[in-house]
Amino acid sequence: RVGLRKNVYFTRALVSPSCFKMGYSSQAARLEGKVALITGAARGIGKATASKFISNGAKVVLADIQHQLGQEVAKELGPNATFIACDVTKESDISNAVDFTVSKHNQLDIMYSNAGVACKTPASIVDLDLAVFDRVMNINVRGVLAGIKHASRVMIPRKTGSILCTASITGLMGGLAQHTYSLSKFAVIGIVKCLAAELCQHGIRVNCISPFAIPTAFVIEEMRQIYPGAEVEKLIEIIHGSGTLEGAHCEPNDIANAALYLASDDARYVSGHNLVVDGGFTSLKTLNFPAPDQVH
Ligand code: NAD
Repeated sequence: RVGLRKNVYFTRALVSPSCFKMGYSSQAARLEGKVALITGAARGIGKATASKFISNGAKVVLADIQHQLGQEVAKELGPNATFIACDVTKESDISNAVDFTVSKHNQLDIMYSNAGVACKTPASIVDLDLAVFDRVMNINVRGVLAGIKHASRVMIPRKTGSILCTASITGLMGGLAQHTYSLSKFAVIGIVKCLAAELCQHGIRVNCISPFAIPTAFVIEEMRQIYPGAEVEKLIEIIHGSGTLEGAHCEPNDIANAALYLASDDARYVSGHNLVVDGGFTSLKTLNFPAPDQVH
């Protein structure tokens, strides 16, 4: 009986207005009053995250090289979405996107450096095209770093901010993608560790998300190189079939949910973290032992 009473008090405490003062955020609008800038937001993970942030009360600036699509998406997402043309390989574009966000909304609370590309380089190091390597690093690594640099410029004086990046499970293990892409994602995870260490003294959190394979546009383009002539539905089936978690497959919305958590005050003490969203894929590895009935 005493235990039951205790539970009642506990439940009341959780739903009382004071719990919000204690730091538990409302499920309805976890980003109320926040302003976010997301790169690579015209489609895929960036678009899904922009939509999630807006439905949680944020104002979002979508930055991308695809001008027409970006504008259409901003219109689709409603009055709290704005598009700005931005090529993350140009530092001036990133600087402009940050300044535009601050001049439009007075602040920048969340910077999500999400833009990234894959590459059609051959599998072997012997055939590595260093020009392709430079191009991919320019977008996936230098672009992320520049995003964090300029977000920090405006976040440091306010002593608050949440910075996110999209890494990948290919940045955790070798052999999951071509070397160039994989290396670029190893670097993103490294950037997060380095910069979280510096920016914590300014109240700024830096985290990344490592998704499993999702059949977004660039992944489908990559798969077409491997399986020329295959229907898109078949390629999606192959990608989904490569996961390990029974009954589910990875979708942009799963990454948007992870981004929402890391961007919100729910993660107010989480920094330098790589949130792996892979259905357990990188945890599952069996030893190559022969089956017992094969050993005599
Ligand atoms: P996507 O191709 O659907 O979206 C990428 C967006 O980035 C596009 O809108 C594109 O126009 C934009 N972009 C490309 N180059 C740019 C540049 N120079 N400047 C600004 N924008 C640019 O792909 P996605 O799957 O949504 O990828 C988003 C991020 O997620 C990437 O960093 C990618 O590496 C990462 N990721 C994706 C997967 C996956 O399986 N889809 C898995 C792990 C990580």
